[in-house]
Formats: sequence, C-alpha cells, structure tokens
Amino acid sequence: MTTNSRFTQATATRPLLDLTFGELEREVVASGIPAVHARTLWRAMHVGLSEDLSHHPEFPAPLRRWITEQVGEGRRFQLELPKVAAGIFSRDGLTRKFLLRLSDGQVVETVLMGYAGRRTACLSTQVGCAMGCVFCATGQMGFVRHLTAGEIVAQVRQARLGVGLGIAERAGTPAVPGGELRNLVLMGMGEPLHNYEAVMTALEIISDRGGLNIGPSRITISTVGVVPGILRLAEEQRPYHLAVSLHGATDAERAALVPIGRRWPLAELIGACRTYGSRTGRRIFFEWTLIAGTNDSVAQAARLAALIAGMDAHVNLIPLNPTEGFRGSCARPEAAKAFQEVLKASGIPSTVRQHRGIDVAAGCGQLRA
Ligand code: SAH
Ligand code: SF4
Repeated sequence: MTTNSRFTQATATRPLLDLTFGELEREVVASGIPAVHARTLWRAMHVGLSEDLSHHPEFPAPLRRWITEQVGEGRRFQLELPKVAAGIFSRDGLTRKFLLRLSDGQVVETVLMGYAGRRTACLSTQVGCAMGCVFCATGQMGFVRHLTAGEIVAQVRQARLGVGLGIAERAGTPAVPGGELRNLVLMGMGEPLHNYEAVMTALEIISDRGGLNIGPSRITISTVGVVPGILRLAEEQRPYHLAVSLHGATDAERAALVPIGRRWPLAELIGACRTYGSRTGRRIFFEWTLIAGTNDSVAQAARLAALIAGMDAHVNLIPLNPTEGFRGSCARPEAAKAFQEVLKASGIPSTVRQHRGIDVAAGCGQLRA
C-alpha cells in the first residue's frame, strides 16, 4: 500500500500501545499485509519489549515496509513509551517504585513488589484522583487526568523490565527478588472505575494470550465503590477480581473518610456487590484501612460483619500508611487482631496486609507524583 500523506498528516497519531490485538490486526490487514504479521509485531512490542520497531531485520519485508510507512513521528502510529524519571528501591530491597514521565510531562507511579516466589505490580489508572479519600496521598492531590490504555499497558512493560524479563541487554536492570511478575493490582494512583473504558481496553491487551498473557484471574481491580462501574463489570461479565474499599460500615463513618460515599450510600454499594457476586459467582475482596481510634474497634468490626453477611467475601485489612495531609495513625497490631477475631467469629476470612515500601512512599495510598 502507498501512504496517503495528506491523510496521515490530517489524522492524529495514535499510540500503538493503545491498540488491542484485534485493532492492530485490522490495521495490518487493511494495508494488504497478511494477518499473521500482526502477531509478530504484537509480540515484539509486548513480549520482546522492543523500543524501536524499525530495527528488526528479522521481520518479514512487508511488515518492515508497513512500519516504515505507518509508525513514527508524524505518521499514523507511534510507539510512545514513558520515561523512567526515577526508580527507587525500598530499604529492604523488596519493593521498587518507578516514577514514569508521560508524553505531556505528567508523572505516575508503578510499584513492583517481591514476595516469596512471585512478584506483583501495582498500576496507576489516573494522574491524581477525584474521589478525595482523606487519608490517601493521591486523593489529596486532586484529579489531573485519566490515563490512556497505552499508558496503563506501558506500566506492565516497565514492571517486566524491572523484573529483568526483558530482552537480554536489559537483564542488567536490578531485579526485585522473588520470582517473575505474576499478579497485577489496580491499586496505584487513581480510581479505575472512573476511567472504565481505558482500563478495560488495557486489561484486554495485558491479558491477551498471544502477548503479555497475564491471565484475568491474576488481575485485581480495586474500586472505592463506583456503583455503576461495579454493575457494569457484572453485566459485561468481566473476568477480573474485584476489590471494594469500604473503611466504614455506616454511611456517616464511611463518608468522613471516603467523601464519594455520600453519592453511593452503603445500601446501594453493598447491593451492587451482592449483584456482582451472584452474577459472576466470584468472591469479592473488601478493603479496610485500619486507622487507630477511627475504624478499628470491635464494634465496628461487628457492623462490617453484619453488612457483608452471607456474601462470598474476603476482607483485606490495610494498616494505615502515613501521608502528609492526614493526621490519623496506624491501628495497633492488637486492635487489628481483635478486629480479625470478630470477622472470624462470623465466618469471614481476612488478611492483614504487610506494610510494604513505606520508606520510599510506595505503600498503599502514599503514591503522589
Ligand atoms: N482507587 C482505588 C484503588 C487505589 S487505592 C480504591 O480506592 O480502591 C488502593 C487501596 O489503598 C484502597 O483500598 C485505599 O483505600 C488504600 N489506601 C489509600 N490510602 C491509604 C493509606 N494512606 N494507607 C493505607 N491504605 C490506603
Ligand atoms: Fe482515589 Fe482510591 Fe485514593 Fe480514594 S483511596 S482518593 S479512590 S486512589
């Protein structure tokens, strides 16, 4: 195919990482190139972590021609990669935080955590967040913009480079101990269900079997409780795990920490969770950040147990991480234990999350560009 240069100039350049495999394949086929070459390109981008698609002498000639015509400055597509502004290890060496500078200069954070035998990456979905949770550094900075699908995908790429799974010359990147990248959690900056379309496109790209192949059962979306988003996930039968941040079991207590709780009261939120549970047959994870003297009493644990009674649920208790804009302090370990005991007595399993990466401000809710 010959490039129509007027068309090329008139159309905005699209980041290649925004495309699903189906879209890329349609593009390639529309240019008269065999569909099989789309897979070659896809694998080079996502699995081989190629940064410069024009330097692949092993590519078949038609694909090389397509790249010359279509990819690059001023052409239809561009392989735009965020720059690593900083990569910081926590003191224990188990957590690594990357600050990624996006094409418009905004910065987001991706956190890579090493556990025994596996690694988990925590991805951001927005620059800032509009939900305003009082104890969260991202909430404290306010909303700046949504991330594009490609900007979310690029974080997985960065995490893989961090694990040293990239092409050989990249293996020199210090790796986080603990095995290969296995799980993804959408628990970085931003509210994933406030950026629904881009997040779903990104997850489709990330879980593609012929590409990054991180299975849906290894991906968890964490939401502050955007009710329409939860119902949509159920309606569309999205195959990912769902975590819902509660922090309070009465509307007044919850809204004091999570202002968006006024828009979607607990009755509505829990109703949506029950619908999600029954439609998908999947267990829901509830998150509860434990704040001393605020939401760590046994009475509050009992109210939480009553609220989610009868659901297939697991509660993740997160010790509060310090942030500049919030004076509360982390619940004492005894309080966390007593809280857990109450849940256990009601048959609700729970886990107290380990403090991770606090010294590099990479813990939950400490992410602030
Ligand atoms: N916006 C989504 C996902 C990002 S926040 C959500 O709110 O669920 C990921 C988790 O970190 C949430 O459960 C959130 O409540 C928790 N969190 C936020 N700030 C925190 C802090 N300072 N200490 C501990 N957990 C925090
Ligand atoms: Fe946004 Fe989640 Fe932080 Fe709340 S806790 S402000 S929803 S990122």
